[in-house]
Amino acid sequence: MSALDEPLRFDARSLLAAGVPAKVTLVGAGPGDPELLTIKAANALRAAQVVLHDSLVGDGVLDVVPPTAHRIYVGKRAGCHAMSQRAIIELMLQLARSGRPVLRLKGGDPYVFGRGGEEAQALAAAGVPFEVIPGISAAQGAAASAGMPLTHRDHARALVFATGHLQGVGDARTVDLDWPMLARPRQTVVIYMGLGALPVICAQLMQHGMPGDTPAATVERATCADERTIAGTLETLPALARVQGVRSPALIVIGEVVRLRDTLAMTNTATGAAVVNAAGA
Ligand code: SAH
Repeated sequence: MSALDEPLRFDARSLLAAGVPAKVTLVGAGPGDPELLTIKAANALRAAQVVLHDSLVGDGVLDVVPPTAHRIYVGKRAGCHAMSQRAIIELMLQLARSGRPVLRLKGGDPYVFGRGGEEAQALAAAGVPFEVIPGISAAQGAAASAGMPLTHRDHARALVFATGHLQGVGDARTVDLDWPMLARPRQTVVIYMGLGALPVICAQLMQHGMPGDTPAATVERATCADERTIAGTLETLPALARVQGVRSPALIVIGEVVRLRDTLAMTNTATGAAVVNAAGA
């Protein structure tokens, strides 16, 4: 039986619920550490009947779901085909219309680079009731565990979250971002999904006036037991990340706040996170 077929079967509940769609709850799973689930998210997971989930960073989050609940994996993992966004939305709508409450579990926060906005729009357009339970986004998790406050009166008065997803094909692949805005001083830039484009990102920021010695770091698997931070500068980070074999999921953090981890990461005993120091950071 395919995971996709089963929940679509017609049953007594769907007859009772005919015409009245069940609720879809978009839940933020947080960055990895299951203890970073909100109480509201954990309560929703404990009460879940059908869970549609992405590829989650932390293993423990799904343990909160009761064994009796149906879990349907709709994310993408290396080597596997992703279910298209359209198909995920269709499945959610069909389940809700058949009277089954759906818990749609997404990494971090559903409304931060998680396509939660598109899913909520589709639910609203279809007249399906929904609720959004926020989660701690990867940037916030990484900031706390790697010791880099995202804002700081002395170093960063603004904070930008951007996606570093490469677009296009072959040599023409590029990252379409507002580089002059990102290169401004006294702000922190956090780039999601940017690992593949790290050399392009650092080069573009320098071309647009950001000094090459600006502190920059990657934080891999933030808040997990095997979290790892690699820190350097705009000039050094791409090579460091390559040599150290940094892998996804990882964030790129750029700005003076990266320096603060020298003192803050050491005194943060919440994680046994690995920190690789590089000259210049
Ligand atoms: N909605 C999520 C982001 C989804 S996009 C959130 O709010 O966090 C997926 C990207 O998030 C990954 O490519 C990576 O850049 C980042 N990411 C997610 N979890 C992470 C983690 N634990 N450590 C580092 N980066 C993470």
